[in-house]
Amino acid sequence: MELYSGYINKLIEELAGLPGIGHKSAQRLAFHLINMPKNRVERLANTIVEAKENVRYCEECFTLTDRNICPVCANEKRDHRTIMVVENARDLAAYEKTGKYTGVYHVLHGAISPMLGIGPGDIKLKELMKRLEGDVAEVIIATNSSLEGETTAMYISKLIKPTGIKVTRIASGVPVGGDLEYIDEVTLLRALEGRVEL
Ligand code: ZN
Repeated sequence: MELYSGYINKLIEELAGLPGIGHKSAQRLAFHLINMPKNRVERLANTIVEAKENVRYCEECFTLTDRNICPVCANEKRDHRTIMVVENARDLAAYEKTGKYTGVYHVLHGAISPMLGIGPGDIKLKELMKRLEGDVAEVIIATNSSLEGETTAMYISKLIKPTGIKVTRIASGVPVGGDLEYIDEVTLLRALEGRVEL
């Protein structure tokens, strides 16, 4: 027997497909949405579509932005010779929140994971190497301290070494397996200041 209408079931199914949303939460959200005024539902739906249509990768660092060049890359006061490599745009946001990092970033959009079948060609590594053909003094590898993050860090450092550019890795004061975005600013800064040359 169908418990709810087909429309509700479809909505629950779509919501449950989002990361971090289990079936129960999806149900709760679905009923919440149905009870919302129609104009608010329309605003939410439009906001999602607009974001999808207008957000793109920064042409330099590949973070998500609604311009060709993101505000960090466009800022001439930033040190464009120091590039911090992060796994995703959320990690970039975490470091930006500290307000202390003055270099620029490179967003990989993932990490190498043989187990999940994610290889070097699946993340923005080629793009990083291309950037290193320019004037770069240091690459700070700030991937997570998970197995994937460490694998990626090793891979990148081996790739960069022959170019003679300084490669450093943020200190491991960061809890193992911890996602950068959940770590407080003090820990992030300590990790950055305590970085070691690879
Ligand atoms: Zn950028």
